[in-house]
Amino acid sequence: MNAIRIDGKAIAEDLRARVARDVALLQAEWNVTPGLAVVLVGKDPASSVYVKTKARQAQAVGFKSQQFLLPGSVGEAELLELIGNLNADKSIDGILVQLPLPEHIDRWRVLEAIHPAKDVDGFHPYNVGRLAAGRPALAPCTPLGVVHLIKSVVSDLSGLDVVVIGRSNIVGKPLALLLGDAGCTVTGAQLQTRNLPGLCREADVVVAAAGCAELVRGDWLKPGAIVIDVGINRTTDSTGAAKLIGDVAFVEASKRASYITPVPGGVGPMTVAYLLANTVNAAVSRRGLSLVKNPEASRPCSCLHQLDRSADLQRAT
Ligand code: NAD
Repeated sequence: MNAIRIDGKAIAEDLRARVARDVALLQAEWNVTPGLAVVLVGKDPASSVYVKTKARQAQAVGFKSQQFLLPGSVGEAELLELIGNLNADKSIDGILVQLPLPEHIDRWRVLEAIHPAKDVDGFHPYNVGRLAAGRPALAPCTPLGVVHLIKSVVSDLSGLDVVVIGRSNIVGKPLALLLGDAGCTVTGAQLQTRNLPGLCREADVVVAAAGCAELVRGDWLKPGAIVIDVGINRTTDSTGAAKLIGDVAFVEASKRASYITPVPGGVGPMTVAYLLANTVNAAVSRRGLSLVKNPEASRPCSCLHQLDRSADLQRAT
């Protein structure tokens, strides 16, 4: 078997085009331009690239995009003050603080300071709790992207056996919730899991989000399995040039899987596209608008978990 590559770049481009259509509709009907604020503390090279990409794509879909590049020495109080100002800024719909933060800053205090209605990364305990309860919420972008990629090759997820390797707050745990809501039987694996190869061999879908280069081998897979590789591991090729590889041994796995995502060009582009989709959804929900006023227009973007318009969320500016 030679697996078909799932083209995350192309699928993300489609999603961004839908976001751009929604932005045009918001501007034409309500004179609303969604605003996204991205905050970077320090000069971590990978984070700087991510922030630039997010800002560029936000501008390309028609957002008002603001970047706040703070020195690594910035104090927690100053960062919290900036977040307070962004919470109060009516032109800002989404606030993203790029992780990791320097050690002298309490990451949770910062994430919890972001108003839940503007929490487009979906990391605030309010949104985490709503997601866990099966209520509409701003869900984290990478898991939304993973579900979208699986749905691009199998329309009905119900009944599928899925192994999610990794249980971080950013990827593994929220992904397990989303897949469970979609009717999958989810096994959440982690470092301590016994017999990971055996669990994977039983799975219809394997999602690798461990941050462990080429962890998943070809002979771990059931023939015909769908493989989604979230991992990003930096290495060098035979000439010494820098390259990225995933958590899946791609060549081996391609011989067993039916569909597989490449690294790069799989999950990564979806993460940024869902940041944009979440920002449009936040802009719409915060103002109590509907994007389906014009029947020709696209549906709102987040395929699974839209914010609702409950009064507590509308307390945002
Ligand atoms: P993390 O370090 O917070 O969590 C890793 C998880 O994997 C933990 O639960 C750990 O127990 C588990 N794990 C580690 N090694 C394992 C092993 N050998 N066997 C089984 N489980 C193992 O990582 P994270 O933030 O969730 O990120 C995971 C990977 O995904 C990283 O490579 C990261 O760069 C990548 N990532 C990619 C995107 C994207 O947009 N493509 C987004 C977020 C994270």
